[in-house]
Amino acid sequence: MEDQRNIRWHHSTVTREQRERQNGHKGLTIWFTGLSASGKSTVANCLEEKLFKMGCHAMVLDGDNIRHGLNKNLGFSKDDREENIRRIGELAKLLTSKAIINIAAFISPYRADRATARALQDEGDFIEVFIKCPIEVCEKRDPKGLYQKARAGIIKDFTGVNDPYEEPEDPEVVIDTSLKDVDQCADEIIKYLERTRVLMGDPFEATL
Ligand code: ADP
Repeated sequence: MEDQRNIRWHHSTVTREQRERQNGHKGLTIWFTGLSASGKSTVANCLEEKLFKMGCHAMVLDGDNIRHGLNKNLGFSKDDREENIRRIGELAKLLTSKAIINIAAFISPYRADRATARALQDEGDFIEVFIKCPIEVCEKRDPKGLYQKARAGIIKDFTGVNDPYEEPEDPEVVIDTSLKDVDQCADEIIKYLERTRVLMGDPFEATL
């Protein structure tokens, strides 16, 4: 471990509250979890687009994209999956503190790792959304042909086939993508954000 004694946290002059007032919404991590092909990326993108059109500062952190860059040195062993989620959890926390609605779309199969990501943030700054879909439906969709490869033994450690997926026990929101279309799924999350006052109304002028 590096010696961290000379590292100090720098505080911004612009506060989180000022940013939230200017944005017209709170900072929040919306943590999606679900099987491969359950619809995490698709719903996350639709939600991001809807929030963008509403004038919100929202961004998706997508599993594949993060593995292309920030986490490209990590594989799919239990330790690497844990480190993957730890780093994303820290990134999500930074974005929340800057009043950004960040949508993390990762399988994040282990309860303990999701709990770690949640524990990094204050109560109310992190919500878990279970993107629920029966594995048979995911397997039928199989947009990237991954289930087929996993069944053929070409991919080892594939969640749901030969690696565990631990369903959330008490998520804030459950979205069943086998029962509703993408638009309805994203709208359900928007309704939750309105109900819980994450979306505060019109953006205000910057007040510094
Ligand atoms: P994940 O990110 O969970 O691996 P993707 O979003 O990449 O899943 O793939 C989900 C697939 O399921 C896409 O091909 C998408 O078009 C399809 N799909 C069908 N119905 C839905 C729905 N209601 N919500 C999300 N995706 C859906």
